[in-house]
Amino acid sequence: MSPQPTPSPISLVPPLLDPIIALVVAANIIWTGVRLLHETGLGLLDTALPKEDLDHINAILDDYRAQGMLFHALRSRQAGSRRFVSFHVLVPGTWTVWKGHSMCEAIELALRQALPETTVFTHLEPREDPTSFADQALDRVPEPEDPSETAPALEERPWKHETIRQDSLGTERT
Ligand SMILES: [Zn+2]
Repeated sequence: MSPQPTPSPISLVPPLLDPIIALVVAANIIWTGVRLLHETGLGLLDTALPKEDLDHINAILDDYRAQGMLFHALRSRQAGSRRFVSFHVLVPGTWTVWKGHSMCEAIELALRQALPETTVFTHLEPREDPTSFADQALDRVPEPEDPSETAPALEERPWKHETIRQDSLGTERT
């Protein structure tokens, strides 16, 4: 009696399973490729943070808005796993540098704790100064060269008077 031939492992696989597995593997390769292209493309485009993150940031800033602070020029960027967030912090001009800086530190800490791997930049400015609101665009609009047009703004900025006093060498202009 001749021995039974042992079937090869390949012949054990049902005929349809092989092409199905091949299709699944091909689909997975295509999906991975598309995902990598998408993520790389977003990196090249310097994408902003997703809406959930921005909503989270705004919810935290709301706590400080309730304390009389304003915020503008909020910008964000995702670079790999790291988030970058920058914005201007407008506080009452009567606050000391110490108090304004402490508030910026507190806000930055709250954001870092809420969103890990976040780098926060803040720019402190007095909310009563018109120039605080003139710097919200990416490219700052240059101030007019005619001094008569800047005079009203200078009147509202006491530290500019200090500059004028030093520059004019005794000429009383304040
Ligand atoms: Zn500003």
